[in-house]
Amino acid sequence: MAVEIVQCPVCKQKLGLQDYVTINTLLVCANVMCGTNLRVLSRHPTHVEQVPESATYSADSRPESYG
Ligand SMILES: [Zn+2]
Repeated sequence: MAVEIVQCPVCKQKLGLQDYVTINTLLVCANVMCGTNLRVLSRHPTHVEQVPESATYSADSRPESYG
């Protein structure tokens, strides 16, 4: 199973994203001291961006934690 490593843009925590994680998936940084909400912008290579916390509550899908 392929896992791609990306860094949290806020705290530089390394996060392992499984191959099945698609664009626009919401993630939560695995660093409990950070906990930033992240959105997958692209795959191969993978880029993530920080999402304002308020923007995640109305989303249909709940954030998942990776790493
Ligand atoms: Zn982080």
